[in-house]
Amino acid sequence: DGAPALLSVSGISYDYSGMNAVSDCSLDIPAGAITALIGGNGAGKTTSVKMIAGALRSRSGSIRFDGVDITASPAHETVEMGLALVPEGRLVFQHLSVLENLLVSGHVRRARASLQSNLERVFDLFPRLGERRSQNAGSLSGGEQQMLAIGRGLMTNPRLLILDEPSLGLSPILVSSIFSLVRKLNEESISVLLVEQNVHQTLAIAHYGYVLEKGKIVQHGEGRSLLVDPKVKEAYLGFA
Ligand code: ATP
Repeated sequence: DGAPALLSVSGISYDYSGMNAVSDCSLDIPAGAITALIGGNGAGKTTSVKMIAGALRSRSGSIRFDGVDITASPAHETVEMGLALVPEGRLVFQHLSVLENLLVSGHVRRARASLQSNLERVFDLFPRLGERRSQNAGSLSGGEQQMLAIGRGLMTNPRLLILDEPSLGLSPILVSSIFSLVRKLNEESISVLLVEQNVHQTLAIAHYGYVLEKGKIVQHGEGRSLLVDPKVKEAYLGFA
């Protein structure tokens, strides 16, 4: 405690045409850690991270990244500061090749000089992507598209990588490999905000976690203590 947070979110809110999706959400993301944002379907997780990354504009509160106010910064500016959002649903360019998808992301100003080494690093992390570099992204399996989506995030040299439900729809083996990858990236000094409905595996690797319900943070604490918390167990782990 005492160290300033890498990302500090204070009281952000969002409504979709009058319907409240997120209200007064606050969280602190320390540098060097894995922080989890968990919650069920429609809790407001995606809306929250879109506000953080600048894809949606909060109607209240403030967002600071590394001490800089980014409350009103659009996504193309936050990415240049080192904040990378890997969106839910593996939004890759289906009609571009694997390589082209990576190059598009790698051309941001902050990462341009290290484009070649970043590419090698991504192919090193994900050999399948290297083998399929000339194939259309749309022809990849779901797991490979998720790897490509994460690879695109890594091409921007992120300081904070926000992963929105990276395990969604993947087989148990692929889910485990995604969680190991998150640990590995974190050990390589990338701070991570992991947004998940896969509560058990997420809290097992998260240093700290926040629980979002109906647009509000209802609980937060160390990953391991949330994992054994009776309320969390009852609501998300299927047993009390
Ligand atoms: P999921 O895991 O299902 O994506 P989530 O926790 O990410 O859930 P959000 O996608 O942020 O939740 O959605 C929060 C609320 O806002 C939900 O009630 C959802 O139906 C609503 N919502 C999300 N996107 C829109 C939109 N484009 N227009 C209207 N309502 C929306």
